[in-house]
Amino acid sequence: MDKYATLNEPQREAVMCTEGPLLLLAGAGSGKTRVLTHRIAYLIEEKHVLPWKIMAITFTNKAAKEMRERVERLIGAGGQDVWVSTFHSSCVRILRRYIDEIDYDRNFSIYDTDDAKKLIREIMKEYNIDPKYFKESMILSEISSAKNQLIGPKAFQKQADGDMRKEIISRVYIEYQKRLLKNNALDFDDLLCKTVDLFEQRPKVLEYYHNLFQYIMVDEYQDTNGVQFRLVKLLADKHKNLCVVGDDDQSIYRFRGADIRNILDFESVYKNAKVIRLEQNYRSTKNILGAANEVIRNNRKRKVKKLWTDNHEGERIHHVQVNSEVEEAQFITDTIVRGIEDEGHEYYHYAILYRTNAQSRLLEEGLVRAGIPYRLVGGVSFYQRKEIKDIIAYLKVLNNSTDEVAAKRIINVPKRGIGATTVERIQEYVNISGQSFMEGVNDIESIPNISRGKKNVAEFAMMMHDLKAFADRGALKRLMDELLERTGYIESLKADDALKAEERSENIGELVSKLYAYVEDREAAGEEPSLNEFLEDVALVADIDQLEDDDNKVILMTLHSAKGLEFPVVFMAGMEDGLFPSFMSMNSGLIEDIEEERRLCYVGITRAQDKLYMTSSRSRMLYGNTNYNPVSRFVSEIPAELLESNSVSGQSDIQENEPMNLIEERARRKTAFKQKPYSTVTASAIPAPEGVVLDYAAGDLVKHPKYGIGQVKLIEAGGADYQVTVNFPSHGKKKLIASFAGLKKI
Ligand code: ATP
Ligand code: MG
Repeated sequence: MDKYATLNEPQREAVMCTEGPLLLLAGAGSGKTRVLTHRIAYLIEEKHVLPWKIMAITFTNKAAKEMRERVERLIGAGGQDVWVSTFHSSCVRILRRYIDEIDYDRNFSIYDTDDAKKLIREIMKEYNIDPKYFKESMILSEISSAKNQLIGPKAFQKQADGDMRKEIISRVYIEYQKRLLKNNALDFDDLLCKTVDLFEQRPKVLEYYHNLFQYIMVDEYQDTNGVQFRLVKLLADKHKNLCVVGDDDQSIYRFRGADIRNILDFESVYKNAKVIRLEQNYRSTKNILGAANEVIRNNRKRKVKKLWTDNHEGERIHHVQVNSEVEEAQFITDTIVRGIEDEGHEYYHYAILYRTNAQSRLLEEGLVRAGIPYRLVGGVSFYQRKEIKDIIAYLKVLNNSTDEVAAKRIINVPKRGIGATTVERIQEYVNISGQSFMEGVNDIESIPNISRGKKNVAEFAMMMHDLKAFADRGALKRLMDELLERTGYIESLKADDALKAEERSENIGELVSKLYAYVEDREAAGEEPSLNEFLEDVALVADIDQLEDDDNKVILMTLHSAKGLEFPVVFMAGMEDGLFPSFMSMNSGLIEDIEEERRLCYVGITRAQDKLYMTSSRSRMLYGNTNYNPVSRFVSEIPAELLESNSVSGQSDIQENEPMNLIEERARRKTAFKQKPYSTVTASAIPAPEGVVLDYAAGDLVKHPKYGIGQVKLIEAGGADYQVTVNFPSHGKKKLIASFAGLKKI
């Protein structure tokens, strides 16, 4: 029972109260997540519940991984068998097993926002909907928010009730669902909605999961939306052993349909629910917690909570005003360097949080300059890149031939002489014949009015047919090699845009590595690799998952991504009215919007354990405009006695004429395309060119087209070529083959 001795009284009560509905409502850093892990351990060890009978829902995949590890640390083996995952991953797992009960195939595709937009665009075109008045992103977000509230297309249409705008959107919604079904595809919202449909339409399936999950727990419950609420309700209906934990002050996903009422109304939905409150914060210093409490106090709609801490007082909150966003980056990097050198801090102690992704670029550049290793969470995700999406689209078609969006994406990529008219003809044909798009492609001989393209389509069909043979027998490595070879994709990149070709082929190299690693992983476990499973992995990696634990790096991310995490030192950058709170929230005239921003600020402040810095810039260039914003109202909500204000006045040691934008600079420097395709995988097989002469030596700074600036650590002669080890602040140490790496001395 030792491990439960470190819990305080209400925490212990929450751990041991295992039967019936339980709401744990408490402020930040009070140990809610910690209670969940201990509760799982307690159920297994003391109540002898089988691990796989416990389901725990977390907000990110990263949190799920962490929770699984913590449980394992607490109880040893067995922890792995607890079903810990996000809503989305859980639903994918359930649907892969049973979705064929409701009209889909089990190898369905998962459409991301981009795929979904494409589908919407097509429908709009066919329905002659003017994009001047209806933006596809607007329609998609209306559909998404309807889905989040479990409003189907027909119900949506009913609600329109004469409202022309809603009427039009409802028609798109109806057609959109039809096409998804035809493509055997689900968008992200569907993953949840279809699981609800499945449970509601097939009681036997629900019964299976009732028997499986005797105990259900949900972390960050304040950010669940309507469909998630329904899912939990369905799953917990039999045993009612449901424990939800959350903090209404940290509800920050209203724009994605999160409904704070789910937590506020818990007691009325689940009669006899026990409510436990935690009031002691273990994370932050008195000053940090005081600041957080004072800020959030300004929100009117909230359950008032007491939150105190035994921790020491700590430093005051540092508020620093600078003249420009460049100085802001400078101040932050200087502070980190000093902390590392003088105070014994490590890089991973630091997190830099900001309101929008656009703020990250200058901060990154500052870190590169200072040689500080960092990890950026978010931004343009690897899987959003064009080349990655292209290759994945090939894999999707090979996995699920009814996926029309994927098929159309790649039918003429790389260019193979299949024009838009040919594609349209195929589409018209299958619309009438009721076949899928790829069936039309395979049936090209029967389609009238196609002349020139016919031969090319037939060749494409043949190639896909051949590739599918590898996919079907699970020969995935071979499949990838053949795919790149036969499509000539990498060569086509050169013709497309020589400047970006090298970086793109490297990205593909990374995808190849990922697939290889996946296959080897499966084989080591004695299991068959499958394309379906690989694509599932790929579709569900949330950005936060790029965060690796043992990495000694400064973390950069948005305030939204930081939920649930903690760091010894936190910077909140861009504390300006118009940026944070956002311009939109200030101008909507809705008190709810400002209150949501304030909750986000509360989340930010409460991530900090020992030190908190807030920076505001007098002028800021963002999205190409320079703004002169006043200091954020949230800063002025912190009482003066908790605040230490400083002003930095333009003494930054950055030279005027020094290029500020390293990324643009990198793009400007034309690097010749020398790299063999995906050299990260097959480097050793590439014959080295003769007479390699290097113009850099160990200790020099060099620039790599993808990894940016780094320092040469070691040069080794390796056969006919040199192997160069370079330390890149943003990517760590890399071993590169000199003649392929494209390193430039700077
Ligand atoms: P958030 O609202 O930010 O998600 P939380 O309520 O989930 O926070 P935890 O992350 O579980 O809080 O805990 C915050 C910190 O306090 C962690 O470092 C945790 O280990 C520590 N902690 C929680 N309870 C105790 C305790 N009883 N004794 C010592 N440390 C504790
Ligand atoms: Mg938590």
